[in-house]
Amino acid sequence: MTKSSIVSIPSNTKDVKIMNYINGEWVHPTTGTYIDNYNPATGQKSTPIPDSSSVDIDNAVQAAKAAFPQWSATPVAERAAILNRIADLIDTNCANLAVLESQDQGKPVIFAAAADIPMCAQFFRQFAQYIVKGISEIKSQTNTQATLKNITEMVPSVLKSTTQHVASGVAALITPWNFPMLVVCEKLAPCIAVGNTCVVKPTELTSITPYLLTQILQVAGVPPGVANFVFGTGINAGEPLVKHKDVRLISFTGGSLTGSRIGGIAGSLLKRVSLELGGKNPSIVFNDCNIEHAVATNVRAAYQNQGEVCICSSRQYVERGIYDQFVKGFRQKVLEEVRVGDPSNQQTFYGPVVSKQHMEKIMNYIRLAQEEGAKVEFLVNPNDTMVKSVSSDGRLTIKGLEGGYYIAPTLITGIKQSSRVVQEEIFGPVVCVLPFSTEEEAIILANDTQYGLGATVWTEDGDKLMRVMKQLNAGSVWGNSWGVSDECMPFGGMGCSGTSREHGKWSVEFFTETKALYTHN
Ligand code: NAD
Repeated sequence: MTKSSIVSIPSNTKDVKIMNYINGEWVHPTTGTYIDNYNPATGQKSTPIPDSSSVDIDNAVQAAKAAFPQWSATPVAERAAILNRIADLIDTNCANLAVLESQDQGKPVIFAAAADIPMCAQFFRQFAQYIVKGISEIKSQTNTQATLKNITEMVPSVLKSTTQHVASGVAALITPWNFPMLVVCEKLAPCIAVGNTCVVKPTELTSITPYLLTQILQVAGVPPGVANFVFGTGINAGEPLVKHKDVRLISFTGGSLTGSRIGGIAGSLLKRVSLELGGKNPSIVFNDCNIEHAVATNVRAAYQNQGEVCICSSRQYVERGIYDQFVKGFRQKVLEEVRVGDPSNQQTFYGPVVSKQHMEKIMNYIRLAQEEGAKVEFLVNPNDTMVKSVSSDGRLTIKGLEGGYYIAPTLITGIKQSSRVVQEEIFGPVVCVLPFSTEEEAIILANDTQYGLGATVWTEDGDKLMRVMKQLNAGSVWGNSWGVSDECMPFGGMGCSGTSREHGKWSVEFFTETKALYTHN
């Protein structure tokens, strides 16, 4: 790819050749090697990914370090103008980015076009606004009377205190595959808005749209070295980035095991780290809910994006009085509305899961549920002419896309709370529905998890709704809805779901050093 003043995003992954983006230049990995990459809808080879090493990481970190003094001193208005240009360019190229995101990840094009890509632009606009409105210098609300006066006469009578947020330095941004471009933008926008420079290491499974973002950054005027992208595996590229001595802070989204490893390394090197990790999110459905609404939203919360959303409601607890009605309604809704297949088809609700390895992991959990004697149902409409067959462990074969990685919408009932299928994150279109008898029991079951990312509660009783929501151990709790978001609200998890919060002022705080400034009148 050469430097250009216009962005030209192709509409097919075969026209993309992924290279690292270091100091404003597109370069091959120094290893000279590339990793195979597959289109999950077909199982066929797609564009390969650079297999970068610690040498490429060091080159990128050096570029980011060299760019930091000038970028952090760049007037806020100038940085904000660049961020707004990035947002405009993302919007302009939304259609093709959505197609490529779908070909790389498997999600339906219409979902990427309506959600992922527009939200990427929104993050850049939002943080442009933040820095212009002065979040970089938050004034203390109080002019505290000097409380030390009685201790020493050296302290004058009025103490004025102010906090200042200053850019930290070089950040490492490491991202997963379920929202390939969105999670990059979620971190990149606040990171560079406040004046940091960075090295982004997107997942090796879905690198295409993060790579195309480099073209947008360059055309928008992000100076060389401010945002560098190195593609490759977690071990060969991600870990050297985490360990690099010139990286001051690490923002990571991914699996809890990887997060634990990165957190351990970061802790031993005294680097600041933000960990956004997995989830096994409960939904509590009470007898007095609006059942039609609850069923419809819980179906979506189970299967949207192939169930590959960190806040998917994969454990649904339903009060006994409506349990049978809920399960019946759920089954019916899925059979009627959840079509699985070609992600470029407008009728498709969800597409293939991201990789063959991930598909096999999901099928292992399905087999485990079967071995444990649970009732496992594959909710495929017998009249769906696109479906060729369903295997006994849930693999769906779609006509014309026989090599793709499709899993049937899977409903598991009659399973024990202690089962690994209920306790561990599957991250696929598999939902467990279990009954409960009392409010107390529902809260105990919902909180009986190592995770704590999202939760939903369904009842028409406003007092009960708030009472239960407050007792759930999760970073985000939705009452009678799921997944609606406000970028000004904190997002993150408890326990194995993470250690921090992102978005709005929480991202600004993470990406800056907060200084306390004291003066005296
Ligand atoms: P993953 O942990 O396998 O990989 C995430 C990233 O870390 C990839 O870029 C990978 O290359 C890199 N990596 C792997 N090992 C590394 C190491 N030792 N050092 C440095 N980097 C390393 O996760 P995944 O499978 O790509 O993503 C799915 C997970 O992400 C799920 O658990 C999901 O719940 C979670 N997720 C969480 C959120 C959230 O906001 N909490 C959002 C999206 C996804």
